[in-house]
Amino acid sequence: MSPIVCVDLNGVLDSYTGWRGPEHFDPPRAGAREFLESLAARGFDIVVFTTRHPDGVWEWLERFGLRPLVRDVTDRKPPAHVFVDDRAVCFRGDFAQTLRAIDTFAAHWEVPSACDVGSDAPEPLGFA
Ligand SMILES: [Mg+2]
Repeated sequence: MSPIVCVDLNGVLDSYTGWRGPEHFDPPRAGAREFLESLAARGFDIVVFTTRHPDGVWEWLERFGLRPLVRDVTDRKPPAHVFVDDRAVCFRGDFAQTLRAIDTFAAHWEVPSACDVGSDAPEPLGFA
């Protein structure tokens, strides 16, 4: 049995910049196909782990030719080897460190790049 890697859709596989409704799907992020192909080449079963409705996700995968790379789409946590998610904080056994990470957390797409804000530290924009 192959190890499972769970990959999020919004903010990981797609070019998500915020919630725009249940019918809206952004196109794949540049490099998403190569990323999934590399995971498959490493022997992983790829599961898209997302809160999005699975029918819409399967249609999105089909539309962009990614469906053959994906074993399942689910919103239930599978027994995965690793999770790839834009909203995750990795727990490394230290609750205090984890709380600090949560206090300063922002998804990559919520933080303006250094080029956009000059020398100012980026400010999290909050939850979308
Ligand atoms: Mg996400």
